[in-house]
Amino acid sequence: MTITQSVSYGNFINGEWRAAASGEHFENRNPANSDDLVGLFAASGAEDVDAALAAAANAADAWRRTSPIARATILFKAADILAARVNEIGRELTREEGKTLKEGIGETTRAIQILRYYAGEAQQPDGEHYPSANNQTLLYTVREPLGVVAIVTPWNFPIAIPTWKIAPALAFGNTVVFKPASDTPLCAVRLVEALHEAGLPAGVLNLVTGSAGKVGTPLLSDPRVVGISFTGSNAVGQELKQIAANTGAKLQLELGGKNPAIVLADADVDHALQHLVTGAMWSTGQKCTATSRAIIERSRVDEFTTKLSERINALVVGDPQAAETHIGPVINAKAAERIVADIQRGAGDGAQLLAGGSALSDNGRGKGHFVAPTLFAGVSSDSFLGQEELFGPVLGVIAVDGMDEAMAVANSVRFGLSASIFTRDLGKAMTFAREIQAGIVHVNSETPGAEPQVPFGGYKGSSSYSREQGKSARDFFTQVKTVYIDPPGGA
Ligand code: NAP
Repeated sequence: MTITQSVSYGNFINGEWRAAASGEHFENRNPANSDDLVGLFAASGAEDVDAALAAAANAADAWRRTSPIARATILFKAADILAARVNEIGRELTREEGKTLKEGIGETTRAIQILRYYAGEAQQPDGEHYPSANNQTLLYTVREPLGVVAIVTPWNFPIAIPTWKIAPALAFGNTVVFKPASDTPLCAVRLVEALHEAGLPAGVLNLVTGSAGKVGTPLLSDPRVVGISFTGSNAVGQELKQIAANTGAKLQLELGGKNPAIVLADADVDHALQHLVTGAMWSTGQKCTATSRAIIERSRVDEFTTKLSERINALVVGDPQAAETHIGPVINAKAAERIVADIQRGAGDGAQLLAGGSALSDNGRGKGHFVAPTLFAGVSSDSFLGQEELFGPVLGVIAVDGMDEAMAVANSVRFGLSASIFTRDLGKAMTFAREIQAGIVHVNSETPGAEPQVPFGGYKGSSSYSREQGKSARDFFTQVKTVYIDPPGGA
């Protein structure tokens, strides 16, 4: 692994890069090799948040009045700027987050697509025309921006998630204060740089890096913030409901998952196996949509489990920049410790460990946070492994007797983000699509996988009923005004 010299990055406030008011920095290290310092980032606090909010509030009127066509031009240009740097930024993403290079470049490509999609969306109709009880009345609705919105994002999709929040927020006329995850601030810097270079006016997008307590809390509890879009853990999401209830901010939460993949006895074996492995293990299992429960019909469970374990044991875990690597590190030392402790707890509950189960420190992995891809068989649906999100490379197999039990098990968790079924039976596939409690449903494909032009979000504890992406983003980032226009003498 190459170790390059680190550089310092500031906040981006009111159109300029500046140091945190404290003058302090925090370190961002490569999760595959802790000797590699990715960069030093502004360790901000309430004073920086205040400056960013003041800039966003100040810029709000002019941006609201800027033509959507002009906003779209800026988003298209930012997409072109990112596209010119896609390999470089993809490599940086891999260096700071740990997913493989292919995934890092793929995610950056996704961010470019999202910018272009919302540049197009900005130019779509922004209201509706209605008939009125009085035929002289012009009656219509128009969608207008909320104002200043706060965007708080996790580390696991460090450029795609910020883009799918920031692009629509800007496209529909809001100004933004953006706090990225402290584990992945470099991708945030790259996205903001591209939008700035594309001509975004000062104050429209502000970036403040720093900790949850020192940046996140003052930002989200500030009454100038009228909209909050948050992706992260359920525990924090719960706190934000309280905060938004106090300030009155419109709130969008995208939270955890415990995503099932049902494999019925008639499934195409190779196809299902491939999707179970990639769905559970790619990005080191750190996707909110990762498959974490393989719910398999008992008549085929031994055969599937044996083959799954062979495939999972064969995965190459190591340097995510290397072409032969399938699985990189988890995000940090704390996550590695937690996942291994969760695996031990799962084994203690009586499930059988068939692959992985521990941290890996041999073969050049000693300076990174590597956890072996892990497979459990004989998982009970109501156990810790059957119910809780581990957010790591861990798959549990649950055996069931037929479709009815499979559905009951799949729906038995507090989450409802995504779900899959593998079957040749169209009737069962349609029953699944109808009855599964999940916001994203796949038939014969893995649980991850979300295209930017369609809504994204979960049922139950996985979301707050609002949806991101596609046309749903306009619903969140705008409010509706209803206009009655009568002739001067009355209708
Ligand atoms: P997290 O700990 O909740 O952090 C998410 C973001 O919130 C980070 O920027 C974090 O800052 C900030 N934050 C934490 N506590 C805060 C507080 N009290 N007030 C304001 N901001 C706060 O989640 P994570 O560990 O980064 O992400 C993993 C979770 O996200 C998993 O549960 C995963 O399923 C979920 N996720 C969901 C989706 C989805 O679309 N449904 C997508 C991806 C991930 P710091 O980084 O500075 O701590």
